[in-house]
Amino acid sequence: MPTGKNPQNSGQNDMRMLISFIIMAVIFTSVLNIFMSAMTTRKATEITYTEFLQMLTQKQVQTVEIQADRLVITEKPQQNEEENAFYGLRARQYYTGIVDDPQLTDRIIASGATQYRAVENNSPILSFLATWVLPFLLIYGISGLILRSVMKKMGGGVGGPMSFGKNTAKIYAQKETGVTFADVAGQEEAKESLQEIVDFLHKPERYTAIGAKLPKGALLVGPPGTGKTLLAKAVAGEANVPFYSLSGSDFVEMFVGVGASRVRDLFKQALENAPCIVFIDEIDAIGKSRDNQMGGNDEREQTLNQLLSEMDGFDASKGVVILGATNRPEVLDKALLRPGRFDRRVIVDKPDLKGREDILKVHIKDVKLTDDVDLHQIALATSGAAGADLANIVNEAALRAVRFGREKVEQADLMEAVEIIIAGQEKKDRIMTESERKIVAYHEVGHALATALQKNTQPVQKITIVPRTMGALGYTMQMPEEEKYLMNKEEILDQITTYLAGRGAEEVIFHTVTTGASNDIEKATELARNMVAQYGMSERFDMVGLESIQNKYLDGRNVRNCAETTSAAIDEEVLKIIKQCHQKAIKLLEANQPALHKIAAFLLEKETITGEEFMKLLQEEEAVALQKA
Ligand code: ADP
Ligand code: MG
Ligand code: ZN
Repeated sequence: MPTGKNPQNSGQNDMRMLISFIIMAVIFTSVLNIFMSAMTTRKATEITYTEFLQMLTQKQVQTVEIQADRLVITEKPQQNEEENAFYGLRARQYYTGIVDDPQLTDRIIASGATQYRAVENNSPILSFLATWVLPFLLIYGISGLILRSVMKKMGGGVGGPMSFGKNTAKIYAQKETGVTFADVAGQEEAKESLQEIVDFLHKPERYTAIGAKLPKGALLVGPPGTGKTLLAKAVAGEANVPFYSLSGSDFVEMFVGVGASRVRDLFKQALENAPCIVFIDEIDAIGKSRDNQMGGNDEREQTLNQLLSEMDGFDASKGVVILGATNRPEVLDKALLRPGRFDRRVIVDKPDLKGREDILKVHIKDVKLTDDVDLHQIALATSGAAGADLANIVNEAALRAVRFGREKVEQADLMEAVEIIIAGQEKKDRIMTESERKIVAYHEVGHALATALQKNTQPVQKITIVPRTMGALGYTMQMPEEEKYLMNKEEILDQITTYLAGRGAEEVIFHTVTTGASNDIEKATELARNMVAQYGMSERFDMVGLESIQNKYLDGRNVRNCAETTSAAIDEEVLKIIKQCHQKAIKLLEANQPALHKIAAFLLEKETITGEEFMKLLQEEEAVALQKA
């Protein structure tokens, strides 16, 4: 559905391009011709006319070709040369100058040789065409193609879904997106606040009649993969208006001024096609705050300024709505966020339990399922997953069903897909020694026992010692019974203990430690640190906020807000928590050695055991163990 406009200011540029093509083609053709003539003359040896006559009388000549300026003589193949000729090797050639010899034809006939006159030399035009024009055209065409594709890659904008002017990035224009709010699940609040924009695009008169001004722009904010791009398309789809989208990074080019002119073009296009949606994805690429750190970036600033002035300039009553999306709202320039620009902020956060279930339903619509599929359980197991992850899980499950030659997707496929997303593919061909497998088994059972024997923990879902591609040699999967939004201090401490119990089991049984606990240590330390620095859960610092989170929607890095010495004190507190939990884990496991041995042996045999199998074994080992803990 491209609605292409003719390039206006690209004429000059095209002219320059044409000239450089021609120069290139001429050079190439000359080189080609010099090369070719060198090739052909090298084959023939020059002889005198007398020598030629001698060859004729000795009947050594096969053919004589009379050219404009020379005679080309081909020698008869000698005995053993016949074979050569058979195999495609050329007979020897000589040439000599033209002498005014009226008897030449008679002599040639007498010697039994054939004579002919080269035809092409009669037509200098043809030969010129063959040696110059044809190669020129070929080279012109090929180099033109190559150059064009290079220019396109550099963002020169030849073709693409839509072109306007030479400095056009790929604007993605769609008459109908085909996406509606029904395709976006679990973002009810976001949909609600965007509904008004949809209404406005449907019937702008209703709003203008009262004198209401509608927001010019809304900013969709949230972590990657939560459906921001999808929502923007859905707004266009619901309102049934064209959708123009460009990614923020498309504006940022090497040359100052290019981005700004792209912004100008984009808005010009949009106004001509109003009502419509203009969507700028990843807007932080241009909208970064201008006053941050070292030096400015002229190009970005110009682009941003252009964007600001365009947003001020256009008349919203025409029905153009600008949507932006970002996962780093905190770096955006304040000027972008003030009223009259992106004055609405729509939070598109990671979905909750119900949201995840709804998203799974949307994506599993066209997948054939067996009756045992329970999406609620999958939603429980995927706490923290974004919409894109869930879409991915459904697809992985379908792929797995195909791999096993089944026609329907089972619950097991979905559960395995969840694990693939969390831990990577199974890596069955990794060979571990028997003693390594034993250590891994005890380590995992250590985690599982700590979970089962403490009060404030989540039940065990599965224990496995099949290695995964993302590095885990085995793991214990816990699954919440319900979604929780708060964690209390006891729960955090029990979770830390659970993390440390893997290493604890190694110590209790093998009296040594391995490198296998590094990931557990990292997670346990992070939790302990957050307790002290962010959650106000230590005696020593009471409720002082010592760290804050930056880039909340991305990796969520912690930033320290306190003095060096305080920082050292935080480390001490963290150490205290970790030590306590480590001791607790060891005590717990020492008291339950029989269960540890029994379950580890079972795991070594089966490689994977379910949460139910685990609980059954634990109960057989009787409640004494539970009371001792
Ligand atoms: P973002 O722009 O926030 O990074 P996208 O909109 O590109 O994320 O989402 C990527 C894909 O994930 C979508 O195409 C869709 O298949 C799936 N997805 C994400 N969120 C949702 C949702 N809320 N409902 C349905 N599908 C979703
Ligand atoms: Mg996106
Ligand atoms: Zn572990």
